[in-house]
Amino acid sequence: MKVARPLAYALEMMSLPTAPCNEGAVSAWIEGFIARRPALRLRRDRWGNLLVRYPGRGRRRGRALVFCAHMDHPGFTALGVDAQGRLRARWMGGVPLHLLDDRRVRFSCERGWVKGRIVSVATLPGERATADVAVETNGPVPPGAVGMWDFPDARLAGTRLIARGCDDVGGAASLISFLDAAVRRRMPQSFDVLFTRAEEWGFLGAVAACRTGTLPKDAIVISIETSKELPNARQGDGPIIRVGDRAMVFAPEVAARLTDAAEGLRRRDPAFRFQRRLMDGGICEASVFAAWGYPTGGLCLPLGNYHNVTPDGRRIGPEYIDVRDYLGLVRLYGAVVETFRAPPPRRNAFRGMCLKLLAGRRRFLV
Ligand SMILES: [Zn+2]
Repeated sequence: MKVARPLAYALEMMSLPTAPCNEGAVSAWIEGFIARRPALRLRRDRWGNLLVRYPGRGRRRGRALVFCAHMDHPGFTALGVDAQGRLRARWMGGVPLHLLDDRRVRFSCERGWVKGRIVSVATLPGERATADVAVETNGPVPPGAVGMWDFPDARLAGTRLIARGCDDVGGAASLISFLDAAVRRRMPQSFDVLFTRAEEWGFLGAVAACRTGTLPKDAIVISIETSKELPNARQGDGPIIRVGDRAMVFAPEVAARLTDAAEGLRRRDPAFRFQRRLMDGGICEASVFAAWGYPTGGLCLPLGNYHNVTPDGRRIGPEYIDVRDYLGLVRLYGAVVETFRAPPPRRNAFRGMCLKLLAGRRRFLV
Protein backbone atom coordinates (compact mmCIF):
# COMPACT_ATOMS: atom_id res chain seq x y z
CA MET A 1 0.00 0.00 0.00
CA LYS A 2 1.31 3.45 -0.91
CA VAL A 3 0.92 5.97 1.90
CA ALA A 4 1.79 9.66 2.23
CA ARG A 5 5.44 10.25 3.16
CA PRO A 6 4.69 11.53 6.69
CA LEU A 7 2.73 8.33 7.38
CA ALA A 8 5.50 6.18 5.92
CA TYR A 9 7.96 7.84 8.33
CA ALA A 10 5.58 7.29 11.23
CA LEU A 11 5.06 3.61 10.41
CA GLU A 12 8.77 2.99 10.03
CA MET A 13 9.95 4.91 13.09
CA MET A 14 7.17 3.72 15.40
CA SER A 15 8.21 0.13 14.66
CA LEU A 16 11.75 0.70 15.98
CA PRO A 17 12.70 -0.62 19.43
CA THR A 18 13.19 2.07 22.06
CA ALA A 19 13.25 2.50 25.82
CA PRO A 20 14.50 5.17 28.25
CA CYS A 21 18.34 5.41 28.11
CA ASN A 22 18.23 2.87 25.25
CA GLU A 23 17.25 4.93 22.19
CA GLY A 24 20.08 3.77 19.90
CA ALA A 25 17.82 2.38 17.14
CA VAL A 26 15.81 5.61 16.88
CA SER A 27 18.84 7.91 17.04
CA ALA A 28 20.70 5.78 14.43
CA TRP A 29 17.64 5.97 12.17
CA ILE A 30 17.55 9.78 12.55
CA GLU A 31 21.30 10.07 11.94
CA GLY A 32 20.89 8.04 8.72
CA PHE A 33 18.04 10.30 7.60
CA ILE A 34 20.16 13.44 8.22
CA ALA A 35 23.25 11.94 6.53
CA ARG A 36 21.28 11.54 3.28
CA ARG A 37 20.28 15.21 3.32
CA PRO A 38 23.29 17.52 3.01
CA ALA A 39 21.04 20.56 3.55
CA LEU A 40 20.67 19.51 7.22
CA ARG A 41 23.28 19.90 9.97
CA LEU A 42 23.52 17.48 12.87
CA ARG A 43 25.14 17.93 16.25
CA ARG A 44 25.14 15.21 18.86
CA ASP A 45 25.67 16.57 22.38
CA ARG A 46 27.65 14.61 24.96
CA TRP A 47 24.43 13.07 26.30
CA GLY A 48 23.32 11.66 22.96
CA ASN A 49 20.61 14.25 22.28
CA LEU A 50 20.51 15.15 18.58
CA LEU A 51 20.25 18.79 17.50
CA VAL A 52 19.33 19.16 13.82
CA ARG A 53 19.54 22.50 12.06
CA TYR A 54 17.65 23.39 8.93
CA PRO A 55 19.57 26.53 7.93
CA GLY A 56 17.10 27.92 5.40
CA ARG A 57 18.32 30.63 3.08
CA GLY A 58 19.92 33.93 3.95
CA ARG A 59 20.42 35.32 7.44
CA ARG A 60 18.16 34.31 10.26
CA ARG A 61 15.65 36.87 11.41
CA GLY A 62 14.73 36.79 15.06
CA ARG A 63 15.42 34.15 17.71
CA ALA A 64 16.22 30.49 17.14
CA LEU A 65 13.09 28.34 16.98
CA VAL A 66 13.59 24.81 18.30
CA PHE A 67 11.04 21.99 18.04
CA CYS A 68 11.68 19.17 20.49
CA ALA A 69 10.55 15.54 20.73
CA HIS A 70 11.85 12.62 22.78
CA MET A 71 13.10 9.39 21.26
CA ASP A 72 12.23 6.98 24.08
CA HIS A 73 9.08 5.24 25.27
CA PRO A 74 8.43 3.46 28.59
CA GLY A 75 10.13 0.07 28.27
CA PHE A 76 12.72 -2.48 29.37
CA THR A 77 16.44 -3.01 29.05
CA ALA A 78 17.86 -6.54 29.36
CA LEU A 79 20.38 -6.93 32.21
CA GLY A 80 21.43 -10.59 32.17
CA VAL A 81 20.32 -14.03 33.31
CA ASP A 82 19.35 -15.00 36.88
CA ALA A 83 20.19 -18.20 38.81
CA GLN A 84 17.12 -19.95 37.34
CA GLY A 85 18.16 -19.07 33.80
CA ARG A 86 15.47 -16.41 33.39
CA LEU A 87 16.15 -13.07 31.75
CA ARG A 88 16.51 -10.15 34.16
CA ALA A 89 15.41 -6.80 32.79
CA ARG A 90 14.90 -3.29 34.13
CA TRP A 91 11.67 -1.43 33.55
CA MET A 92 11.77 2.37 33.23
CA GLY A 93 8.72 4.57 32.74
CA GLY A 94 5.52 5.96 34.23
CA VAL A 95 3.19 2.96 34.32
CA PRO A 96 1.55 1.63 37.52
CA LEU A 97 4.02 -1.14 38.43
CA HIS A 98 1.33 -3.65 39.44
CA LEU A 99 0.38 -3.80 35.74
CA LEU A 100 3.74 -5.31 34.79
CA ASP A 101 3.25 -8.80 36.18
CA ASP A 102 2.38 -11.69 33.83
CA ARG A 103 2.53 -9.56 30.69
CA ARG A 104 3.85 -10.58 27.29
CA VAL A 105 6.94 -8.71 26.17
CA ARG A 106 9.44 -8.84 23.31
CA PHE A 107 13.13 -8.00 23.16
CA SER A 108 14.91 -6.65 20.11
CA CYS A 109 17.85 -8.94 19.26
CA GLU A 110 20.17 -9.15 16.29
CA ARG A 111 18.04 -11.74 14.50
CA GLY A 112 14.68 -10.17 15.33
CA TRP A 113 12.33 -10.09 18.29
CA VAL A 114 12.58 -12.65 21.09
CA LYS A 115 9.29 -13.02 22.92
CA GLY A 116 8.69 -13.69 26.58
CA ARG A 117 6.45 -13.35 29.60
CA ILE A 118 7.12 -11.50 32.84
CA VAL A 119 7.10 -13.96 35.76
CA SER A 120 8.11 -11.70 38.64
CA VAL A 121 8.35 -8.00 39.43
CA ALA A 122 10.61 -6.47 42.10
CA THR A 123 10.04 -2.82 42.83
CA LEU A 124 12.95 -0.71 44.00
CA PRO A 125 12.63 1.31 47.23
CA GLY A 126 11.47 4.87 46.61
CA GLU A 127 11.23 4.34 42.83
CA ARG A 128 7.81 4.65 41.23
CA ALA A 129 8.96 4.43 37.62
CA THR A 130 11.55 1.66 37.95
CA ALA A 131 11.29 -2.09 38.56
CA ASP A 132 13.39 -5.21 38.00
CA VAL A 133 11.55 -8.05 36.31
CA ALA A 134 12.27 -11.71 35.54
CA VAL A 135 11.16 -12.86 32.08
CA GLU A 136 10.78 -16.35 30.66
CA THR A 137 11.83 -16.03 27.03
CA ASN A 138 11.82 -18.34 24.02
CA GLY A 139 15.46 -17.58 23.18
CA PRO A 140 18.61 -15.91 24.46
CA VAL A 141 18.55 -12.12 24.92
CA PRO A 142 21.87 -10.26 25.23
CA PRO A 143 22.35 -7.63 27.97
CA GLY A 144 21.43 -4.17 26.71
CA ALA A 145 18.62 -5.35 24.39
CA VAL A 146 15.51 -3.12 24.29
CA GLY A 147 12.30 -4.71 25.59
CA MET A 148 8.79 -3.53 24.74
CA TRP A 149 5.24 -4.81 25.14
CA ASP A 150 4.46 -7.64 22.76
CA PHE A 151 2.44 -5.84 20.09
CA PRO A 152 2.97 -5.91 16.31
CA ASP A 153 4.76 -3.26 14.25
CA ALA A 154 3.00 0.07 13.63
CA ARG A 155 0.02 -0.11 11.29
CA LEU A 156 -2.84 1.91 9.87
CA ALA A 157 -6.38 0.90 10.79
CA GLY A 158 -9.05 3.26 9.45
CA THR A 159 -8.25 6.68 10.88
CA ARG A 160 -5.88 5.25 13.50
CA LEU A 161 -2.11 4.84 13.60
CA ILE A 162 -1.54 2.00 16.09
CA ALA A 163 1.87 1.11 17.52
CA ARG A 164 3.74 -0.50 20.42
CA GLY A 165 4.51 3.10 21.32
CA CYS A 166 3.51 6.45 19.78
CA ASP A 167 4.85 8.52 22.70
CA ASP A 168 7.00 10.09 21.49
CA VAL A 169 8.46 8.47 18.40
CA GLY A 170 5.22 9.60 16.73
CA GLY A 171 6.13 13.19 17.65
CA ALA A 172 9.69 12.59 16.38
CA ALA A 173 8.29 11.19 13.10
CA SER A 174 6.13 14.30 12.63
CA LEU A 175 9.29 16.44 12.91
CA ILE A 176 11.23 14.17 10.54
CA SER A 177 8.34 14.65 8.07
CA PHE A 178 8.63 18.41 8.46
CA LEU A 179 12.43 18.37 7.99
CA ASP A 180 11.89 16.28 4.86
CA ALA A 181 9.32 18.76 3.51
CA ALA A 182 11.53 21.77 4.33
CA VAL A 183 14.45 20.27 2.38
CA ARG A 184 12.27 19.31 -0.60
CA ARG A 185 10.53 22.67 -0.82
CA ARG A 186 13.73 24.57 -0.01
CA MET A 187 11.87 26.46 2.66
CA PRO A 188 13.54 29.86 3.17
CA GLN A 189 13.15 30.09 6.95
CA SER A 190 15.48 28.33 9.40
CA PHE A 191 14.57 26.21 12.41
CA ASP A 192 16.09 23.57 14.68
CA VAL A 193 14.87 20.23 15.95
CA LEU A 194 16.08 18.63 19.18
CA PHE A 195 15.59 14.89 19.66
CA THR A 196 16.07 14.04 23.33
CA ARG A 197 16.73 10.93 25.41
CA ALA A 198 15.13 9.40 28.50
CA GLU A 199 12.16 11.77 28.85
CA GLU A 200 10.08 8.95 30.27
CA TRP A 201 12.52 8.41 33.12
CA GLY A 202 12.75 11.95 34.47
CA PHE A 203 13.39 14.20 31.42
CA LEU A 204 17.07 13.26 31.68
CA GLY A 205 18.10 14.27 28.15
CA ALA A 206 16.26 17.61 28.24
CA VAL A 207 17.63 18.52 31.68
CA ALA A 208 21.18 17.58 30.66
CA ALA A 209 20.75 19.64 27.47
CA CYS A 210 19.67 22.67 29.54
CA ARG A 211 22.54 22.27 32.00
CA THR A 212 25.21 22.11 29.34
CA GLY A 213 23.92 24.61 26.79
CA THR A 214 22.95 22.30 23.92
CA LEU A 215 20.39 24.84 22.69
CA PRO A 216 21.09 28.29 21.26
CA LYS A 217 20.88 30.79 24.15
CA ASP A 218 18.09 32.79 22.49
CA ALA A 219 15.97 29.72 21.65
CA ILE A 220 12.20 29.61 21.77
CA VAL A 221 11.35 25.94 22.42
CA ILE A 222 8.22 24.18 21.20
CA SER A 223 7.75 20.78 22.80
CA ILE A 224 6.06 18.19 20.56
CA GLU A 225 4.24 15.39 22.33
CA THR A 226 1.60 12.76 22.13
CA SER A 227 -0.46 13.47 25.23
CA LYS A 228 -3.18 11.56 27.04
CA GLU A 229 -6.56 12.06 25.33
CA LEU A 230 -8.88 14.02 27.65
CA PRO A 231 -12.67 14.51 27.67
CA ASN A 232 -12.23 17.95 26.06
CA ALA A 233 -9.26 17.01 23.88
CA ARG A 234 -10.46 14.26 21.60
CA GLN A 235 -8.82 12.39 18.77
CA GLY A 236 -9.94 13.55 15.33
CA ASP A 237 -10.49 17.17 16.41
CA GLY A 238 -7.01 18.14 15.23
CA PRO A 239 -3.55 18.80 16.67
CA ILE A 240 -3.50 20.65 19.98
CA ILE A 241 -1.85 23.90 20.93
CA ARG A 242 -0.83 22.88 24.42
CA VAL A 243 -1.03 25.86 26.73
CA GLY A 244 0.34 23.93 29.68
CA ASP A 245 0.85 20.57 31.36
CA ARG A 246 0.46 19.13 34.85
CA ALA A 247 3.45 21.12 36.10
CA MET A 248 2.89 24.58 34.62
CA VAL A 249 1.28 26.95 32.15
CA PHE A 250 3.59 27.84 29.25
CA ALA A 251 4.53 31.28 27.88
CA PRO A 252 1.35 33.15 26.79
CA GLU A 253 3.16 34.99 23.99
CA VAL A 254 4.33 31.69 22.48
CA ALA A 255 0.84 30.16 22.72
CA ALA A 256 -0.59 33.31 21.09
CA ARG A 257 1.74 33.01 18.10
CA LEU A 258 1.05 29.27 17.77
CA THR A 259 -2.64 30.16 17.72
CA ASP A 260 -2.03 32.85 15.09
CA ALA A 261 -0.31 30.22 12.94
CA ALA A 262 -3.18 27.72 13.28
CA GLU A 263 -5.85 30.36 12.67
CA GLY A 264 -3.99 31.55 9.56
CA LEU A 265 -4.02 27.98 8.23
CA ARG A 266 -7.73 27.65 8.96
CA ARG A 267 -8.49 30.91 7.15
CA ARG A 268 -6.77 29.51 4.06
CA ASP A 269 -8.37 26.08 4.48
CA PRO A 270 -11.58 25.92 6.56
CA ALA A 271 -11.22 22.10 6.72
CA PHE A 272 -8.07 22.48 8.87
CA ARG A 273 -8.90 21.66 12.49
CA PHE A 274 -7.00 22.42 15.66
CA GLN A 275 -7.64 22.67 19.39
CA ARG A 276 -6.16 24.78 22.17
CA ARG A 277 -6.07 23.00 25.51
CA LEU A 278 -4.43 22.59 28.88
CA MET A 279 -3.15 19.00 28.69
CA ASP A 280 -2.64 18.17 32.33
CA GLY A 281 -2.57 14.38 31.96
CA GLY A 282 1.22 14.47 32.20
CA ILE A 283 4.32 16.65 32.27
CA CYS A 284 6.30 17.35 29.11
CA GLU A 285 9.72 18.74 28.29
CA ALA A 286 8.30 22.25 27.80
CA SER A 287 8.20 22.52 31.60
CA VAL A 288 11.90 21.62 31.78
CA PHE A 289 12.86 24.24 29.19
CA ALA A 290 10.65 26.82 30.93
CA ALA A 291 12.33 26.03 34.26
CA TRP A 292 15.65 26.87 32.62
CA GLY A 293 14.34 30.21 31.37
CA TYR A 294 13.50 29.48 27.72
CA PRO A 295 10.20 30.86 26.38
CA THR A 296 8.30 27.66 25.65
CA GLY A 297 5.17 26.39 24.02
CA GLY A 298 3.69 23.00 23.25
CA LEU A 299 2.01 21.20 20.40
CA CYS A 300 0.60 17.72 20.85
CA LEU A 301 -1.58 14.93 19.52
CA PRO A 302 -4.31 13.33 21.64
CA LEU A 303 -3.02 9.84 22.51
CA GLY A 304 -5.13 6.70 23.04
CA ASN A 305 -3.98 4.08 25.60
CA TYR A 306 -1.51 6.62 27.06
CA HIS A 307 1.63 4.81 28.21
CA ASN A 308 -0.01 1.59 26.99
CA VAL A 309 -2.60 1.62 29.78
CA THR A 310 -6.17 0.95 28.63
CA PRO A 311 -8.85 3.46 29.72
CA ASP A 312 -10.12 1.11 32.45
CA GLY A 313 -6.61 1.27 33.96
CA ARG A 314 -6.37 -2.52 34.12
CA ARG A 315 -4.73 -3.74 30.95
CA ILE A 316 -1.77 -3.05 28.66
CA GLY A 317 -2.61 -2.14 25.06
CA PRO A 318 -0.99 -0.61 21.99
CA GLU A 319 -0.98 3.19 21.81
CA TYR A 320 -2.74 4.98 18.96
CA ILE A 321 -3.07 8.42 17.44
CA ASP A 322 -5.42 9.78 14.80
CA VAL A 323 -4.04 9.99 11.25
CA ARG A 324 -5.81 13.30 10.56
CA ASP A 325 -4.43 14.86 13.76
CA TYR A 326 -0.94 13.67 12.84
CA LEU A 327 -1.07 15.04 9.27
CA GLY A 328 -2.58 18.28 10.61
CA LEU A 329 0.37 18.67 13.00
CA VAL A 330 2.88 18.17 10.17
CA ARG A 331 1.06 20.87 8.19
CA LEU A 332 0.95 23.21 11.15
CA TYR A 333 4.76 23.27 11.55
CA GLY A 334 5.25 25.22 8.32
CA ALA A 335 2.75 27.86 9.41
CA VAL A 336 4.40 28.05 12.85
CA VAL A 337 7.85 28.71 11.37
CA GLU A 338 6.42 31.37 9.05
CA THR A 339 4.58 33.05 11.91
CA PHE A 340 7.60 33.13 14.24
CA ARG A 341 9.86 34.39 11.44
CA ALA A 342 7.49 37.24 10.55
CA PRO A 343 7.93 40.47 12.54
CA PRO A 344 5.76 40.36 15.68
CA PRO A 345 2.39 42.12 15.38
CA ARG A 346 2.97 45.76 16.29
CA ARG A 347 -0.40 46.41 17.80
CA ASN A 348 -2.09 44.32 20.44
CA ALA A 349 -5.10 43.23 18.35
CA PHE A 350 -7.27 42.27 21.31
CA ARG A 351 -6.63 45.57 23.05
CA GLY A 352 -7.52 47.37 19.81
CA MET A 353 -10.82 45.49 19.62
CA CYS A 354 -11.67 46.38 23.23
CA LEU A 355 -10.91 50.09 22.65
CA LYS A 356 -13.14 50.09 19.59
CA LEU A 357 -15.99 48.58 21.59
CA LEU A 358 -15.52 51.15 24.33
CA ALA A 359 -15.44 54.04 21.84
CA GLY A 360 -18.74 52.90 20.32
CA ARG A 361 -20.53 52.16 23.59
CA ARG A 362 -19.04 54.40 26.26
CA ARG A 363 -22.17 56.56 26.40
CA PHE A 364 -24.01 53.55 27.89
CA LEU A 365 -21.59 53.59 30.81
CA VAL A 366 -22.26 57.17 31.89
ZN1 LIG B 1 6.03 11.67 25.84
